[in-house]
Amino acid sequence: MKYISTRDKSKEFEFKDVFLKGLADDGGLFIPKNLKKFTEKELNEFSNLNYIELANKIIAPFVDDFISGKDLEDLISKSYSTFREKNVVKLINVGDRKVLELFHGPTLAFKDVAMQLLGNFYEYYLSKEDDKINIVVATSGDTGAAAIEAIRGKKNINIFVLHPHNRVSPVQRKLMTTVKDKNVHNIAINGNFDDCQNLVKSMFADHNYAKSIRMSGVNSINWARIIAQSVYYFYSFYLVKNDKGPINFSVPTGNFGDVYAGYLAKKMGLQIGKLIVATNQNDILHRAISSGQYYSEKVQETNSPSMDIQIASNFERLIFDLNNEDDHETSSVMQKIKSEKKYDLDQSKLDKIRKDFLSSSADEKKVISLIKKVYESHKEILDPHTAIGYGGFDDVELEGTNIVLSTAHPCKFPDAIFNAINIKPDLPDELKYISNEKENFDLLDNDINIVKQHIKEKIQ
Ligand SMILES: *Cc1c(COP(=O)(O)O)cnc(C)c1O
Repeated sequence: MKYISTRDKSKEFEFKDVFLKGLADDGGLFIPKNLKKFTEKELNEFSNLNYIELANKIIAPFVDDFISGKDLEDLISKSYSTFREKNVVKLINVGDRKVLELFHGPTLAFKDVAMQLLGNFYEYYLSKEDDKINIVVATSGDTGAAAIEAIRGKKNINIFVLHPHNRVSPVQRKLMTTVKDKNVHNIAINGNFDDCQNLVKSMFADHNYAKSIRMSGVNSINWARIIAQSVYYFYSFYLVKNDKGPINFSVPTGNFGDVYAGYLAKKMGLQIGKLIVATNQNDILHRAISSGQYYSEKVQETNSPSMDIQIASNFERLIFDLNNEDDHETSSVMQKIKSEKKYDLDQSKLDKIRKDFLSSSADEKKVISLIKKVYESHKEILDPHTAIGYGGFDDVELEGTNIVLSTAHPCKFPDAIFNAINIKPDLPDELKYISNEKENFDLLDNDINIVKQHIKEKIQ
């Protein structure tokens, strides 16, 4: 499979470029030049596979010029051997909905599903090429821990994680800052997540700098992450395929990566009904989908910090589709969003969006009341992000089978849970030690030159 950028279709890229670079040099996002569509027969055969077998089938066409056959099978098995569930994810019933638990990986959030795979892609690449890589990634809390866990201790690769100072939960922070491997570097930025993300984007945009440190990105725009995430849409779809159709998903959303993976599964042929984009009060995507106004506002801190985002980076991939895959048009829309912080979607684009997506939003109080209601009625503790996904199906009534993606373990957000139901959810035993470990991170101002300099010094 060959890839292009959403802002310039004239150049072709291989999977290796796509996953190592993350972002295209022109600032656009990578997408397949011709997407693989599975046939009816293939889709039927998928329904009997276990998670690992299915992951092989879905991922193989995207990476065929990089890794294939036994190598790919081994890499996928190794990536998911770190999960506490044999089939990686677990589907449970909670009231009238299904909840798909995606948090059984090493750092207790769905980010592990993609990141474990990506870590092993890097290792595979470095085992063949004489290269040294520096990963720089911004995190709203969960990506950082998942990336560190995937990269720590690996040869010829360092990882630098920028998190917004005092804006991630203590458990989220400790999962990052207590890791002792020498190739792991934590940076707390005096700012919010969008500031962290902008710093990383500026570093990539400075091609000389990015080249000089062999910089690589694993943010949620990385195509390799998207394909890994589309696997669990297929897997859970087949688990319920004999239930009443259509099969819909509600997805707690920030950067539009996870829900885009569902849309990708649909584009590959999976007969998904609707995808609900469930946001917290940082609701730019809800406003875009419900009223056509993609207007960026100031980020508000909430009890679902992994979704405290006002610039949904992956949305560019949908904008490309909405503009009939026109790279010039996409490029000018993205320029406009950058300079004016807004984009109006006309009715025809809204109609197009709503064929696949609906949306909802929950403020802080609603999140607490959702956690409480679900616990009292069904004795299940949902983390705040998952609660927002659960509430999506209250706001948008849909026939059929409704699956909520459960994106994090509740113990990552003990304050919100305590606030709602007076219970402090425990960390799994194997992670309890992080509470007493020494933390390591450098606190830096939100200043691109300071951050660039810091990273250069650490590498030398
Ligand atoms: C990252 C994250 C999200 C948002 O996912 P996107 O792909 O950015 O939309 C939701 N919930 C949790 C727990 C997360 O870590």
